[in-house]
Amino acid sequence: MANKRAYEIAFVGLKPGLHEFRYDLDEKFFLERGVTDLEHPQAQIKMLLDKNAGFMLLTFEIGGSAGSICDRCGNPLKLDLWDEFKMLVKLVDNPIEMNEQEEDPDVFYISRNESHLDVENWLYEFVLLSVPMQKVCANDENGRSTCNEEVLEKLKIMKESHNETLSNSIWKGLDKFKGN
Ligand SMILES: [Zn+2]
Repeated sequence: MANKRAYEIAFVGLKPGLHEFRYDLDEKFFLERGVTDLEHPQAQIKMLLDKNAGFMLLTFEIGGSAGSICDRCGNPLKLDLWDEFKMLVKLVDNPIEMNEQEEDPDVFYISRNESHLDVENWLYEFVLLSVPMQKVCANDENGRSTCNEEVLEKLKIMKESHNETLSNSIWKGLDKFKGN
């Protein structure tokens, strides 16, 4: 997408009230911004802009999917991206100062003279925040993990033999004291 303005909203021309915007972000959008730990990420965002005198309330409804691998067994996984974020944009005389002082990450200031609002970074950030923290295989209808049993069994054996070596070396260390 060569159009740098694709994510800019000319809000000055909007009537007060609710306006809806839709964004389709494809894999290229994320690759260009350095996302490498997700496979074929894609997202659809419905953004509502509520224009008021002196401020705008933005609501981002995120939907989409991405491929990843299970943290537990390494099987490929399909992640559903789903979340909602709000952003309060206030029009002020001194936006730089106000942004420096503001501690609430959901509040952003722009100049009263501003006519456009660039939402590209928010779209990007909010989609990444929608990625589930825990990436593990889902449970089946009986509530049992659908993780790759074979891999889990191997991991368990590796862990046990590691613990055994560890306790053996502890006993060896104690044997020295016994000899004294
Ligand atoms: Zn798994």
